[in-house]
Amino acid sequence: MDTKYIFVTGGVVSSLGKGIISSSLARLLLSRGYRVTIQKFDPYINIDPGTLNPYEHGECYVTDDGHEADLDLGHYERFTDIRTSRANNVTTGRIYQTVIDKERRGDYLGKTVQIIPHITDEIKRNVKLLGKTGDYDFVITEIGGTVGDIESTPFLEAVRQLKWELGRDALFIHLTYVPYLHAAKELKTKPTQHSVKLLQSVGIQPDILVLRTEKEIPASMLRKVGLFCNVAPEAVIQSLDQPTIYQVPLRMHEQHLDDIVIRLTGADPRPEPDLNAWNKFLHHLNTAEKIVTIGLVGKYVELQDAYKSISESLMQAATHLDHKVKIEYIHSEKLNDANADEKLRNLDGVIIAPGFGQRGIEGKFSALKWCREHDVPTFGICLGMQCMVIEFARNVMGLQDANSTEMDTKTPHNVIDLMEEQKSISNMGGTMRLGAYKCRLQPGSKAALAYGSEEVWERHRHRFEFNEDYRHSFEQAGMKCVGENPDTHLVEVVEIPEKRWFVGTQYHPEYRSTVLHPNPLFLSFMKAAIAYSDEKSSTK
Ligand code: GLN
Repeated sequence: MDTKYIFVTGGVVSSLGKGIISSSLARLLLSRGYRVTIQKFDPYINIDPGTLNPYEHGECYVTDDGHEADLDLGHYERFTDIRTSRANNVTTGRIYQTVIDKERRGDYLGKTVQIIPHITDEIKRNVKLLGKTGDYDFVITEIGGTVGDIESTPFLEAVRQLKWELGRDALFIHLTYVPYLHAAKELKTKPTQHSVKLLQSVGIQPDILVLRTEKEIPASMLRKVGLFCNVAPEAVIQSLDQPTIYQVPLRMHEQHLDDIVIRLTGADPRPEPDLNAWNKFLHHLNTAEKIVTIGLVGKYVELQDAYKSISESLMQAATHLDHKVKIEYIHSEKLNDANADEKLRNLDGVIIAPGFGQRGIEGKFSALKWCREHDVPTFGICLGMQCMVIEFARNVMGLQDANSTEMDTKTPHNVIDLMEEQKSISNMGGTMRLGAYKCRLQPGSKAALAYGSEEVWERHRHRFEFNEDYRHSFEQAGMKCVGENPDTHLVEVVEIPEKRWFVGTQYHPEYRSTVLHPNPLFLSFMKAAIAYSDEKSSTK
Protein backbone atom coordinates (compact mmCIF):
# COMPACT_ATOMS: atom_id res chain seq x y z
CA MET A 1 0.00 0.00 0.00
CA ASP A 2 1.16 3.58 -0.69
CA THR A 3 2.39 5.59 2.27
CA LYS A 4 -0.41 7.61 3.84
CA TYR A 5 0.34 11.12 5.11
CA ILE A 6 -1.60 12.41 8.09
CA PHE A 7 -1.23 16.11 8.86
CA VAL A 8 -2.09 17.37 12.32
CA THR A 9 -2.73 21.10 12.70
CA GLY A 10 -3.84 23.11 15.71
CA GLY A 11 -6.20 26.02 16.13
CA VAL A 12 -7.58 28.50 18.68
CA VAL A 13 -4.73 28.28 21.22
CA SER A 14 -1.38 26.57 21.54
CA SER A 15 -0.57 23.75 24.01
CA LEU A 16 -3.65 21.69 23.13
CA GLY A 17 -1.62 18.54 22.83
CA LYS A 18 -1.13 17.98 19.09
CA GLY A 19 1.87 15.87 20.05
CA ILE A 20 -0.27 13.69 22.28
CA ILE A 21 -2.99 13.25 19.66
CA SER A 22 -0.36 12.42 17.02
CA SER A 23 1.35 9.97 19.40
CA SER A 24 -1.97 8.38 20.36
CA LEU A 25 -2.95 7.85 16.74
CA ALA A 26 0.52 6.41 16.05
CA ARG A 27 0.14 4.04 19.03
CA LEU A 28 -3.23 2.79 17.73
CA LEU A 29 -2.00 2.28 14.18
CA LEU A 30 1.17 0.53 15.37
CA SER A 31 -0.90 -1.71 17.61
CA ARG A 32 -2.85 -2.76 14.54
CA GLY A 33 0.40 -3.78 12.85
CA TYR A 34 1.00 -0.81 10.56
CA ARG A 35 4.46 0.70 10.20
CA VAL A 36 4.28 4.27 11.45
CA THR A 37 6.48 7.26 12.08
CA ILE A 38 5.77 10.77 13.38
CA GLN A 39 7.53 13.98 12.53
CA LYS A 40 7.24 17.54 13.70
CA PHE A 41 7.65 20.77 11.73
CA ASP A 42 8.42 23.73 13.96
CA PRO A 43 7.84 27.24 12.61
CA TYR A 44 10.65 28.98 14.51
CA ILE A 45 13.88 30.22 12.91
CA ASN A 46 16.34 28.37 15.16
CA ILE A 47 17.98 25.54 13.22
CA ASP A 48 17.10 23.26 16.14
CA PRO A 49 16.05 23.80 19.77
CA GLY A 50 19.57 22.98 21.02
CA THR A 51 20.41 26.61 21.67
CA LEU A 52 17.07 27.40 23.33
CA ASN A 53 16.91 27.93 27.05
CA PRO A 54 14.55 25.41 28.72
CA TYR A 55 12.42 28.35 29.92
CA GLU A 56 11.65 29.04 26.27
CA HIS A 57 10.78 25.61 25.03
CA GLY A 58 11.08 23.04 27.79
CA GLU A 59 13.49 20.16 27.52
CA CYS A 60 15.73 19.62 24.54
CA TYR A 61 15.31 16.00 23.48
CA VAL A 62 18.13 14.10 21.78
CA THR A 63 17.72 11.39 19.16
CA ASP A 64 20.01 8.41 18.49
CA ASP A 65 21.57 10.18 15.52
CA GLY A 66 22.47 13.17 17.66
CA HIS A 67 19.74 15.61 16.69
CA GLU A 68 18.73 18.13 19.35
CA ALA A 69 14.98 17.96 19.01
CA ASP A 70 11.66 19.36 20.18
CA LEU A 71 10.36 17.67 23.31
CA ASP A 72 7.38 16.32 21.38
CA LEU A 73 9.74 13.76 19.85
CA GLY A 74 10.11 12.44 23.37
CA HIS A 75 6.34 11.90 23.51
CA TYR A 76 6.46 10.16 20.13
CA GLU A 77 9.13 7.74 21.30
CA ARG A 78 7.59 7.14 24.73
CA PHE A 79 4.16 6.35 23.25
CA THR A 80 5.37 4.25 20.36
CA ASP A 81 8.90 2.87 20.89
CA ILE A 82 9.70 4.36 17.47
CA ARG A 83 13.27 5.62 17.18
CA THR A 84 13.17 9.12 15.74
CA SER A 85 16.00 10.96 13.99
CA ARG A 86 16.98 14.31 12.50
CA ALA A 87 14.46 13.69 9.73
CA ASN A 88 11.62 13.65 12.27
CA ASN A 89 12.03 17.27 13.36
CA VAL A 90 12.48 20.14 10.95
CA THR A 91 12.34 23.88 11.70
CA THR A 92 11.80 26.90 9.48
CA GLY A 93 15.47 27.68 10.15
CA ARG A 94 16.58 24.34 8.67
CA ILE A 95 14.37 24.80 5.62
CA TYR A 96 15.72 28.30 4.96
CA GLN A 97 19.29 27.23 5.60
CA THR A 98 19.04 24.49 2.96
CA VAL A 99 17.41 26.83 0.43
CA ILE A 100 19.98 29.58 1.06
CA ASP A 101 22.85 27.08 0.77
CA LYS A 102 21.41 25.90 -2.56
CA GLU A 103 21.11 29.49 -3.74
CA ARG A 104 24.77 30.16 -2.88
CA ARG A 105 25.80 26.98 -4.69
CA GLY A 106 24.01 28.23 -7.75
CA ASP A 107 21.31 25.58 -7.83
CA TYR A 108 18.69 28.20 -8.74
CA LEU A 109 20.96 30.12 -11.08
CA GLY A 110 19.08 32.87 -12.91
CA LYS A 111 15.93 32.52 -10.80
CA THR A 112 14.44 34.67 -8.05
CA VAL A 113 14.32 32.53 -4.91
CA GLN A 114 10.91 32.84 -3.24
CA ILE A 115 8.81 31.42 -0.43
CA ILE A 116 6.61 29.84 -3.08
CA PRO A 117 7.84 27.63 -4.69
CA HIS A 118 11.34 27.30 -3.18
CA ILE A 119 10.60 27.27 0.53
CA THR A 120 7.37 25.32 0.10
CA ASP A 121 9.11 22.79 -2.18
CA GLU A 122 11.82 22.28 0.43
CA ILE A 123 9.12 21.74 3.09
CA LYS A 124 7.39 19.22 0.83
CA ARG A 125 10.66 17.41 0.19
CA ASN A 126 11.21 17.11 3.94
CA VAL A 127 7.64 15.99 4.61
CA LYS A 128 8.06 13.13 2.15
CA LEU A 129 11.61 12.17 3.14
CA LEU A 130 10.63 9.43 5.58
CA GLY A 131 7.67 8.26 3.51
CA LYS A 132 9.94 7.78 0.50
CA THR A 133 12.07 5.22 2.32
CA GLY A 134 9.23 2.74 1.86
CA ASP A 135 9.55 1.85 5.53
CA TYR A 136 6.23 3.34 6.60
CA ASP A 137 2.54 2.82 5.94
CA PHE A 138 1.71 6.05 7.77
CA VAL A 139 3.73 9.22 8.23
CA ILE A 140 2.09 11.48 10.77
CA THR A 141 3.22 15.09 10.47
CA GLU A 142 2.54 17.53 13.26
CA ILE A 143 2.63 21.18 12.18
CA GLY A 144 3.80 23.25 15.14
CA GLY A 145 2.14 26.53 16.06
CA THR A 146 -1.46 27.61 15.60
CA VAL A 147 -3.35 28.17 12.37
CA GLY A 148 -3.29 31.90 11.66
CA ASP A 149 0.29 32.41 12.88
CA ILE A 150 2.29 34.29 10.25
CA GLU A 151 5.18 31.87 10.58
CA SER A 152 3.23 28.68 9.95
CA THR A 153 1.79 29.95 6.65
CA PRO A 154 4.48 28.39 4.37
CA PHE A 155 3.98 25.01 6.08
CA LEU A 156 0.22 25.14 5.55
CA GLU A 157 0.69 26.12 1.92
CA ALA A 158 3.13 23.23 1.44
CA VAL A 159 0.80 20.65 2.94
CA ARG A 160 -2.16 22.06 1.02
CA GLN A 161 -0.20 21.40 -2.16
CA LEU A 162 0.69 17.93 -0.93
CA LYS A 163 -2.96 17.07 -0.37
CA TRP A 164 -3.62 18.16 -3.95
CA GLU A 165 -0.83 15.86 -5.18
CA LEU A 166 -1.50 12.90 -2.92
CA GLY A 167 -5.30 12.87 -2.98
CA ARG A 168 -6.69 10.16 -0.76
CA ASP A 169 -3.21 9.32 0.55
CA ALA A 170 -3.23 12.55 2.56
CA LEU A 171 -5.55 13.49 5.37
CA PHE A 172 -5.95 16.45 7.72
CA ILE A 173 -6.71 16.31 11.40
CA HIS A 174 -7.35 19.67 13.04
CA LEU A 175 -7.17 20.00 16.81
CA THR A 176 -9.08 22.88 18.39
CA TYR A 177 -10.32 24.03 21.76
CA VAL A 178 -13.89 24.24 23.01
CA PRO A 179 -13.89 26.54 26.04
CA TYR A 180 -16.40 26.25 28.87
CA LEU A 181 -17.69 29.59 30.08
CA HIS A 182 -18.35 29.18 33.76
CA ALA A 183 -20.52 32.29 34.08
CA ALA A 184 -22.78 31.17 31.23
CA LYS A 185 -22.36 27.46 32.10
CA GLU A 186 -21.89 26.77 28.41
CA LEU A 187 -19.42 25.15 26.05
CA LYS A 188 -18.60 27.37 23.11
CA THR A 189 -17.80 26.07 19.64
CA LYS A 190 -17.43 29.42 17.88
CA PRO A 191 -13.60 29.52 18.22
CA THR A 192 -13.51 26.10 16.52
CA GLN A 193 -15.69 27.31 13.68
CA HIS A 194 -13.47 30.38 13.22
CA SER A 195 -10.34 28.30 13.30
CA VAL A 196 -11.66 25.90 10.66
CA LYS A 197 -12.67 28.91 8.50
CA LEU A 198 -9.09 30.18 8.80
CA LEU A 199 -7.83 26.80 7.67
CA GLN A 200 -10.32 26.73 4.80
CA SER A 201 -9.20 30.22 3.78
CA VAL A 202 -5.73 28.81 3.05
CA GLY A 203 -7.28 26.00 1.07
CA ILE A 204 -7.28 23.22 3.64
CA GLN A 205 -10.42 21.28 4.50
CA PRO A 206 -9.93 19.21 7.66
CA ASP A 207 -11.15 15.61 7.38
CA ILE A 208 -11.23 15.03 11.11
CA LEU A 209 -11.73 17.48 13.97
CA VAL A 210 -10.51 16.75 17.47
CA LEU A 211 -12.02 19.11 20.00
CA ARG A 212 -10.08 19.51 23.20
CA THR A 213 -12.40 20.20 26.11
CA GLU A 214 -12.56 20.23 29.88
CA LYS A 215 -16.24 19.17 29.88
CA GLU A 216 -18.04 16.42 27.97
CA ILE A 217 -19.37 17.80 24.68
CA PRO A 218 -22.92 16.61 23.87
CA ALA A 219 -23.37 14.62 20.65
CA SER A 220 -25.70 17.29 19.26
CA MET A 221 -22.98 19.88 19.61
CA LEU A 222 -20.42 17.64 17.87
CA ARG A 223 -22.88 17.20 15.01
CA LYS A 224 -23.39 20.95 14.80
CA VAL A 225 -19.64 21.54 14.57
CA GLY A 226 -19.42 18.97 11.78
CA LEU A 227 -22.22 20.67 9.89
CA PHE A 228 -20.65 24.13 10.16
CA CYS A 229 -17.20 22.86 9.24
CA ASN A 230 -17.98 20.40 6.41
CA VAL A 231 -16.79 17.45 8.47
CA ALA A 232 -18.68 14.14 8.67
CA PRO A 233 -20.43 13.87 12.05
CA GLU A 234 -18.56 10.71 13.09
CA ALA A 235 -15.25 12.44 12.30
CA VAL A 236 -15.83 15.12 14.96
CA ILE A 237 -14.16 13.70 18.04
CA GLN A 238 -13.75 15.11 21.49
CA SER A 239 -10.60 15.01 23.55
CA LEU A 240 -11.75 15.42 27.11
CA ASP A 241 -9.06 16.19 29.72
CA GLN A 242 -7.69 12.92 31.09
CA PRO A 243 -6.03 12.12 34.39
CA THR A 244 -2.99 11.05 32.38
CA ILE A 245 -1.94 11.57 28.76
CA TYR A 246 -1.55 7.80 28.42
CA GLN A 247 -5.35 7.39 28.52
CA VAL A 248 -5.67 9.44 25.33
CA PRO A 249 -5.09 6.54 22.88
CA LEU A 250 -7.97 4.66 24.51
CA ARG A 251 -10.28 7.68 24.33
CA MET A 252 -9.39 8.15 20.67
CA HIS A 253 -9.95 4.47 19.91
CA GLU A 254 -13.38 4.51 21.60
CA GLN A 255 -14.35 7.27 19.18
CA HIS A 256 -12.87 5.30 16.25
CA LEU A 257 -10.14 7.78 15.31
CA ASP A 258 -7.95 4.97 13.95
CA ASP A 259 -10.86 3.39 12.01
CA ILE A 260 -11.75 6.72 10.46
CA VAL A 261 -8.15 7.36 9.40
CA ILE A 262 -7.91 3.88 7.86
CA ARG A 263 -11.22 4.25 6.06
CA LEU A 264 -10.63 7.78 4.74
CA THR A 265 -7.12 7.02 3.48
CA GLY A 266 -8.15 3.66 2.02
CA ALA A 267 -5.39 1.87 3.93
CA ASP A 268 -5.47 -1.93 3.82
CA PRO A 269 -7.62 -2.97 6.76
CA ARG A 270 -5.97 -4.56 9.76
CA PRO A 271 -7.37 -6.19 12.89
CA GLU A 272 -8.31 -4.24 16.01
CA PRO A 273 -5.29 -2.86 17.89
CA ASP A 274 -3.64 -5.09 20.43
CA LEU A 275 -3.50 -2.82 23.47
CA ASN A 276 -2.87 -5.48 26.11
CA ALA A 277 0.54 -4.24 27.21
CA TRP A 278 -0.69 -0.66 27.13
CA ASN A 279 -3.72 -1.48 29.24
CA LYS A 280 -1.57 -3.38 31.70
CA PHE A 281 0.62 -0.32 32.14
CA LEU A 282 -2.47 1.87 32.63
CA HIS A 283 -3.88 -0.59 35.14
CA HIS A 284 -0.74 -0.25 37.27
CA LEU A 285 -0.73 3.49 36.80
CA ASN A 286 -4.32 3.79 37.99
CA THR A 287 -4.25 1.27 40.81
CA ALA A 288 -0.75 1.44 42.34
CA GLU A 289 -1.07 2.61 45.91
CA LYS A 290 2.38 2.54 47.45
CA ILE A 291 4.20 5.80 47.03
CA VAL A 292 7.90 6.25 46.35
CA THR A 293 9.20 9.79 46.75
CA ILE A 294 12.03 10.98 44.53
CA GLY A 295 13.71 14.37 44.79
CA LEU A 296 14.84 16.00 41.58
CA VAL A 297 17.54 18.59 42.26
CA GLY A 298 17.90 21.10 39.45
CA LYS A 299 17.72 24.76 38.59
CA TYR A 300 14.75 24.72 36.22
CA VAL A 301 12.29 23.27 38.69
CA GLU A 302 9.71 26.05 38.22
CA LEU A 303 9.21 24.66 34.74
CA GLN A 304 8.64 20.94 34.90
CA ASP A 305 8.79 20.53 31.11
CA ALA A 306 12.52 21.21 31.49
CA TYR A 307 12.90 17.71 32.97
CA LYS A 308 10.12 16.02 31.00
CA SER A 309 12.00 12.87 29.98
CA ILE A 310 13.36 12.35 33.50
CA SER A 311 9.98 12.72 35.18
CA GLU A 312 8.41 10.41 32.59
CA SER A 313 11.18 7.83 33.06
CA LEU A 314 10.64 7.90 36.82
CA MET A 315 6.90 7.45 36.36
CA GLN A 316 7.37 4.56 33.91
CA ALA A 317 9.82 2.76 36.20
CA ALA A 318 7.67 3.23 39.30
CA THR A 319 4.54 2.09 37.45
CA HIS A 320 6.24 -1.08 36.24
CA LEU A 321 7.17 -1.77 39.85
CA ASP A 322 3.55 -1.15 40.86
CA HIS A 323 4.28 2.08 42.71
CA LYS A 324 3.19 5.66 42.36
CA VAL A 325 6.05 8.10 42.11
CA LYS A 326 5.86 11.43 43.85
CA ILE A 327 8.50 13.77 42.47
CA GLU A 328 9.67 16.61 44.68
CA TYR A 329 11.30 19.29 42.62
CA ILE A 330 14.08 20.87 44.66
CA HIS A 331 15.59 24.14 43.53
CA SER A 332 19.36 23.73 43.58
CA GLU A 333 19.85 27.47 44.12
CA LYS A 334 17.93 27.22 47.38
CA LEU A 335 19.82 24.23 48.70
CA ASN A 336 22.91 24.43 50.92
CA ASP A 337 24.74 22.38 53.56
CA ALA A 338 22.63 23.96 56.31
CA ASN A 339 19.21 23.05 54.90
CA ALA A 340 20.04 19.84 52.98
CA ASP A 341 18.89 17.62 55.83
CA GLU A 342 15.52 19.32 56.13
CA LYS A 343 14.93 19.29 52.36
CA LEU A 344 16.16 15.78 51.62
CA ARG A 345 15.50 13.58 54.62
CA ASN A 346 12.07 12.37 53.57
CA LEU A 347 13.14 11.24 50.12
CA ASP A 348 13.55 7.64 49.01
CA GLY A 349 15.87 8.55 46.17
CA VAL A 350 17.46 11.61 44.63
CA ILE A 351 18.18 12.59 41.03
CA ILE A 352 20.80 15.23 40.34
CA ALA A 353 19.70 16.81 37.10
CA PRO A 354 21.60 17.63 33.92
CA GLY A 355 22.33 21.26 33.11
CA PHE A 356 24.74 23.91 31.99
CA GLY A 357 26.63 26.67 33.76
CA GLN A 358 27.42 27.78 37.27
CA ARG A 359 23.98 28.78 38.54
CA GLY A 360 22.72 26.41 41.22
CA ILE A 361 25.76 24.19 41.09
CA GLU A 362 26.77 24.53 44.75
CA GLY A 363 23.31 23.30 45.81
CA LYS A 364 23.91 20.14 43.79
CA PHE A 365 27.14 19.57 45.73
CA SER A 366 25.28 20.04 49.05
CA ALA A 367 22.64 17.54 47.96
CA LEU A 368 25.26 15.04 46.86
CA LYS A 369 27.27 15.34 50.06
CA TRP A 370 24.13 14.75 52.12
CA CYS A 371 22.97 11.82 49.97
CA ARG A 372 26.38 10.18 49.96
CA GLU A 373 26.80 10.53 53.72
CA HIS A 374 23.28 9.25 54.40
CA ASP A 375 23.51 6.51 51.78
CA VAL A 376 20.35 7.50 49.93
CA PRO A 377 19.90 5.98 46.42
CA THR A 378 21.26 8.71 44.16
CA PHE A 379 21.36 9.04 40.41
CA GLY A 380 23.46 11.74 38.73
CA ILE A 381 22.70 12.44 35.09
CA CYS A 382 25.19 14.23 32.82
CA LEU A 383 25.98 17.43 34.78
CA GLY A 384 24.60 15.50 37.77
CA MET A 385 27.27 12.82 37.23
CA GLN A 386 29.94 15.49 36.83
CA CYS A 387 28.80 17.03 40.14
CA MET A 388 29.06 13.60 41.79
CA VAL A 389 32.67 13.43 40.68
CA ILE A 390 33.46 16.97 41.87
CA GLU A 391 31.77 16.53 45.25
CA PHE A 392 33.64 13.27 45.82
CA ALA A 393 36.95 14.91 44.86
CA ARG A 394 36.39 17.80 47.25
CA ASN A 395 34.97 16.00 50.25
CA VAL A 396 36.41 12.49 50.08
CA MET A 397 39.70 12.90 48.25
CA GLY A 398 40.47 16.26 49.86
CA LEU A 399 41.03 18.01 46.52
CA GLN A 400 39.93 21.45 47.59
CA ASP A 401 38.32 23.60 44.93
CA ALA A 402 38.12 20.66 42.52
CA ASN A 403 35.74 21.65 39.76
CA SER A 404 34.75 21.37 36.15
CA THR A 405 36.50 23.84 33.86
CA GLU A 406 32.99 24.74 32.70
CA MET A 407 32.48 26.41 36.10
CA ASP A 408 36.04 27.49 36.93
CA THR A 409 38.67 27.60 34.22
CA LYS A 410 41.41 28.08 36.81
CA THR A 411 40.51 25.23 39.16
CA PRO A 412 43.62 23.51 40.58
CA HIS A 413 41.85 20.15 40.12
CA ASN A 414 40.02 19.97 36.82
CA VAL A 415 38.42 16.59 37.53
CA ILE A 416 35.89 17.43 34.82
CA ASP A 417 37.40 19.03 31.76
CA LEU A 418 36.56 20.04 28.22
CA MET A 419 36.79 17.13 25.80
CA GLU A 420 39.79 17.32 23.51
CA GLU A 421 37.70 17.49 20.34
CA GLN A 422 35.66 20.36 21.82
CA LYS A 423 38.66 22.64 22.28
CA SER A 424 38.70 23.98 18.74
CA ILE A 425 34.92 24.43 18.50
CA SER A 426 33.52 27.95 18.60
CA ASN A 427 29.96 27.56 17.26
CA MET A 428 27.38 26.74 19.95
CA GLY A 429 24.68 25.07 17.85
CA GLY A 430 24.79 21.31 17.28
CA THR A 431 28.44 20.98 18.30
CA MET A 432 28.27 19.04 21.55
CA ARG A 433 28.97 15.32 21.80
CA LEU A 434 25.50 14.29 20.73
CA GLY A 435 23.55 11.11 20.20
CA ALA A 436 23.98 7.43 20.92
CA TYR A 437 27.39 6.03 21.75
CA LYS A 438 28.37 2.59 22.86
CA CYS A 439 29.31 2.10 26.51
CA ARG A 440 31.08 -0.93 27.93
CA LEU A 441 30.13 -1.73 31.52
CA GLN A 442 32.24 -3.45 34.12
CA PRO A 443 30.88 -6.93 34.93
CA GLY A 444 29.27 -7.01 38.35
CA SER A 445 28.76 -3.22 38.54
CA LYS A 446 25.32 -1.91 39.47
CA ALA A 447 24.99 -0.50 35.99
CA ALA A 448 25.84 -3.82 34.29
CA LEU A 449 23.44 -5.68 36.57
CA ALA A 450 20.71 -3.16 35.83
CA TYR A 451 21.00 -3.59 32.09
CA GLY A 452 21.69 -7.32 32.26
CA SER A 453 24.34 -6.58 29.64
CA GLU A 454 27.89 -5.33 29.48
CA GLU A 455 27.41 -3.31 26.35
CA VAL A 456 24.76 -0.61 25.97
CA TRP A 457 23.96 2.31 23.72
CA GLU A 458 22.80 5.54 25.30
CA ARG A 459 22.41 9.13 24.16
CA HIS A 460 24.70 12.02 25.02
CA ARG A 461 24.63 15.81 25.09
CA HIS A 462 27.69 17.36 26.65
CA ARG A 463 31.03 19.09 26.07
CA PHE A 464 32.84 18.19 29.28
CA GLU A 465 34.06 14.83 30.49
CA PHE A 466 35.65 13.00 33.41
CA ASN A 467 39.37 13.81 33.42
CA GLU A 468 41.24 10.57 32.75
CA ASP A 469 44.29 11.78 34.73
CA TYR A 470 42.32 11.38 37.94
CA ARG A 471 40.82 7.95 37.22
CA HIS A 472 43.26 6.02 39.37
CA SER A 473 42.91 8.34 42.40
CA PHE A 474 39.13 8.13 42.24
CA GLU A 475 39.18 4.36 42.05
CA GLN A 476 41.55 4.19 44.99
CA ALA A 477 39.26 6.43 47.00
CA GLY A 478 36.19 4.29 46.25
CA MET A 479 34.47 5.89 43.26
CA LYS A 480 34.75 3.44 40.37
CA CYS A 481 34.64 4.19 36.68
CA VAL A 482 32.42 1.29 35.64
CA GLY A 483 31.41 2.36 32.16
CA GLU A 484 33.53 3.64 29.32
CA ASN A 485 33.34 4.17 25.62
CA PRO A 486 35.23 1.26 24.03
CA ASP A 487 36.75 3.45 21.30
CA THR A 488 37.67 6.68 23.07
CA HIS A 489 37.82 5.32 26.64
CA LEU A 490 35.79 8.32 27.84
CA VAL A 491 34.34 7.57 31.26
CA GLU A 492 30.57 7.22 30.89
CA VAL A 493 29.47 5.75 34.23
CA VAL A 494 30.78 6.15 37.79
CA GLU A 495 29.50 4.48 40.94
CA ILE A 496 30.39 4.03 44.58
CA PRO A 497 29.90 0.27 44.96
CA GLU A 498 29.73 0.32 48.73
CA LYS A 499 26.64 2.53 48.70
CA ARG A 500 23.07 1.31 48.25
CA TRP A 501 22.84 2.86 44.81
CA PHE A 502 25.07 5.77 43.93
CA VAL A 503 25.48 5.92 40.17
CA GLY A 504 26.28 8.72 37.76
CA THR A 505 26.02 8.57 33.98
CA GLN A 506 27.60 10.97 31.53
CA TYR A 507 24.82 9.93 29.17
CA HIS A 508 21.08 10.55 29.41
CA PRO A 509 19.24 7.25 29.94
CA GLU A 510 15.95 9.18 30.16
CA TYR A 511 15.93 9.64 26.38
CA ARG A 512 15.60 5.92 25.88
CA SER A 513 12.83 5.12 28.29
CA THR A 514 9.37 4.34 26.97
CA VAL A 515 6.01 3.39 28.44
CA LEU A 516 6.33 -0.22 27.37
CA HIS A 517 10.10 -0.44 27.92
CA PRO A 518 11.30 1.67 30.84
CA ASN A 519 15.05 2.27 30.85
CA PRO A 520 16.81 -0.47 32.87
CA LEU A 521 18.89 2.00 34.84
CA PHE A 522 15.79 3.92 35.92
CA LEU A 523 14.18 0.62 36.89
CA SER A 524 17.22 -0.33 38.94
CA PHE A 525 17.34 3.10 40.63
CA MET A 526 13.62 2.88 41.38
CA LYS A 527 14.00 -0.63 42.83
CA ALA A 528 16.74 0.70 45.12
CA ALA A 529 14.56 3.65 46.16
CA ILE A 530 11.61 1.34 46.89
CA ALA A 531 13.82 -1.03 48.88
CA TYR A 532 15.21 1.91 50.85
CA SER A 533 11.71 3.21 51.51
CA ASP A 534 10.59 -0.25 52.72
CA GLU A 535 13.66 -0.52 54.90
CA LYS A 536 12.96 2.87 56.49
CA SER A 537 9.35 2.00 57.24
CA SER A 538 10.24 -1.39 58.73
CA THR A 539 12.71 0.21 61.16
CA LYS A 540 10.32 2.99 62.22
N1 GLN B 1 27.28 21.15 31.04
C1 GLN B 1 27.81 19.84 31.00
C2 GLN B 1 28.62 19.57 29.74
O1 GLN B 1 28.48 20.25 28.76
C3 GLN B 1 26.69 18.81 31.16
C4 GLN B 1 25.66 18.87 30.07
C5 GLN B 1 24.37 18.18 30.43
O2 GLN B 1 24.06 17.99 31.62
N2 GLN B 1 23.58 17.83 29.44
O3 GLN B 1 29.38 18.65 29.71
